[in-house]
Amino acid sequence: MDVRITVLPGDGVGPEVTAEAVACLKSVAERYGHRFEFQEALIGGAAVDATGDPLPEATLKACQGSDAVLLGAVGGPAWDKHPRDQRPESGLLRLRKALGLYANLRPVSVHPALEDASPLKPEVVRGTDLMFVRELSGGLYFGEPRSYSDQAAVNTLAYTRAEVERVAKMAFELASSRRKRLTSVDKANVLETSRLWRKVVDDLAPAYPDVAVQHAYVDSFAMSLITRPRDFDVVLTENLFGDILSDEAAVLAGSLGLLPSASLGGSVGLYEPIHGSAPDIAGQDRANPIGTILSAAMLLRHGLNLTAEAAELEAAVDQTLREGHGTGDLKGARQAHGTRSLGACVRERLA
Ligand code: ATP
Ligand code: MG
Repeated sequence: MDVRITVLPGDGVGPEVTAEAVACLKSVAERYGHRFEFQEALIGGAAVDATGDPLPEATLKACQGSDAVLLGAVGGPAWDKHPRDQRPESGLLRLRKALGLYANLRPVSVHPALEDASPLKPEVVRGTDLMFVRELSGGLYFGEPRSYSDQAAVNTLAYTRAEVERVAKMAFELASSRRKRLTSVDKANVLETSRLWRKVVDDLAPAYPDVAVQHAYVDSFAMSLITRPRDFDVVLTENLFGDILSDEAAVLAGSLGLLPSASLGGSVGLYEPIHGSAPDIAGQDRANPIGTILSAAMLLRHGLNLTAEAAELEAAVDQTLREGHGTGDLKGARQAHGTRSLGACVRERLA
């Protein structure tokens, strides 16, 4: 299989973690006789420094012309004071929008060898296996009007039926392929957008008779998520709630550095770890590469339909963790590694 993958290393630890994931993809391609062609492009602060634009035209073109995009992370203190359209994060928002990515998938599971890495009790987190589906291109982050002055500021929360329906369908399909439970999270007792959200989910439910649907209010769900995480399977929610809840869920897994994501909906998907650019540890060979390597596995599965290859990469990560290897972000007694040597551990277990 001939495939073109655009790699956007970005800022901070981004280049370090994407390098390990790309090396894993190369190992997988070699084992299976695929030809993966990698092309690097600038995004975020690195792109601002080089071109003045966090999403240069050449980067967008490269992404649109490829089969999948692998991203590290964007942002950092160096660009925090830039005007909004020159901030690294705005480049990423524009890329998601331009690629039509309306659904962000974030699997959160608790590895048996890492039950002690979470600040929560092992008996609470044990066996957790969640799939968050976050609406990514609408809601409060994009709604107009939007304005700011020192005396008053405005953001707008708006959703159309079509916007809710397409992301909800994806969640139903995922639930159907998993443990057949869908929890839709909203604030329907207060927000009109949430009333519509609930109505659309209920209207779709009869088309998926094998999926049990449950609605939850975001405030009480925030508690349930860390008191009884095992009770949930697929969690569907809007942009803002999903942003907050999926970071909260990262606590279950033990480290931000472990978790992958896939942004889907358009013809090209974007795969990235859920952590940020981690400027405090950048350039020190300390970042955990597992979240990015698992994002590469999601790229294989969702972007290229290479299911066996994805499973093999996930199995190599699983074995690495089971044998007690890890980076410094994972609490507990472990064989300490840097970014590069942990990446090498995973690749050795592919062979
Ligand atoms: P963003 O605003 O881009 O989401 P953030 O403010 O949420 O970023 P991160 O950059 O994700 O923050 O970092 C939060 C903390 O987690 C930092 O202390 C960072 O060092 C740590 N961290 C993030 N990613 C990793 C990783 N891959 N390995 C180890 N530690 C990490
Ligand atoms: Mg964050």
